Amino acid sequence: MRIVLLGAPGSGKGTQSQRLVERLGIPQVSSGDLLRAAVARGTELGRRAKEAMDGGRLVDDSLVLQMIRERLGAGDTRRGFILDGFPRTLAQAEALERLLRDLTQPLDAVVQLEVDAAELVRRISGRRCCADCGRVFNLFTSPRAAIESELCPRTGAPHRLTQRPDDNEATVAERLRVYEEKTRPLIDFYRARGLLRVIDAMGDVEEVSRRLGQALGAPALRAARAAKPATRRAPHRTGARRKAAQPKSARRRPKSATGRAARRGKARAGLRVNTRGKSPRTTRAGQGRPKGKPR
Ligand SMILES: [Zn+2]
Repeated sequence: MRIVLLGAPGSGKGTQSQRLVERLGIPQVSSGDLLRAAVARGTELGRRAKEAMDGGRLVDDSLVLQMIRERLGAGDTRRGFILDGFPRTLAQAEALERLLRDLTQPLDAVVQLEVDAAELVRRISGRRCCADCGRVFNLFTSPRAAIESELCPRTGAPHRLTQRPDDNEATVAERLRVYEEKTRPLIDFYRARGLLRVIDAMGDVEEVSRRLGQALGAPALRAARAAKPATRRAPHRTGARRKAAQPKSARRRPKSATGRAARRGKARAGLRVNTRGKSPRTTRAGQGRPKGKPR
């Protein structure tokens, strides 16, 4: 499943993404992490991103898109991904749509996490981050004693809790305003494409997680789990779903008929036949022919 989670700062996007990663076994693709990694590795894209950041400018959308493009080329995103931190503006959503169309990896769902403003402010002001390992905690959801009794994997000492400078109430209001102005329009954009699902993200983490699972569709989650061991099989959710939707009698058809159906399915899926549909028979025949044998 290819998923985007939308939500204001403090809506629990990060936490819910993490849970989805575990639940669906697909990676989280975070634009922030990609940027930091590229800068750390000193790649060409990273160098250009650093230049922008050092100059106090925003990193160009096209740079971020290129990083996402590279990231989605890695094998682990074949069964899907959860996009985090991108898109945040209408222009980014449009560019992302073009990129994913290009890669024939269109989005399956966009979930909007709804939380009321007062709750957002409360959650954000309770947020603390470990200065050593970067883990994020919330004083409202985990008691301080529990956090302090845990040891930091980096230092072996208790986590050093710090508050991000932009997590105080004064800047939260401004961040929410920016979110309303820039990111709200994405909701209509994705609604028009039939991708939008809105969930109530108030309440505890477990409850929200359950709602998120429902919004993504329990059959889709089952199909994703079923497809997990078969890494070589086409990971397309549409394919898995089609199979799951077939009546039992259809699944019991003789092998040849199933094969024909599968090929028809592949043909309907268009491009994939060319990119991934190398016929094993052709490959084996090619390898089997002794090289240099005179004809
Ligand atoms: Zn730590």
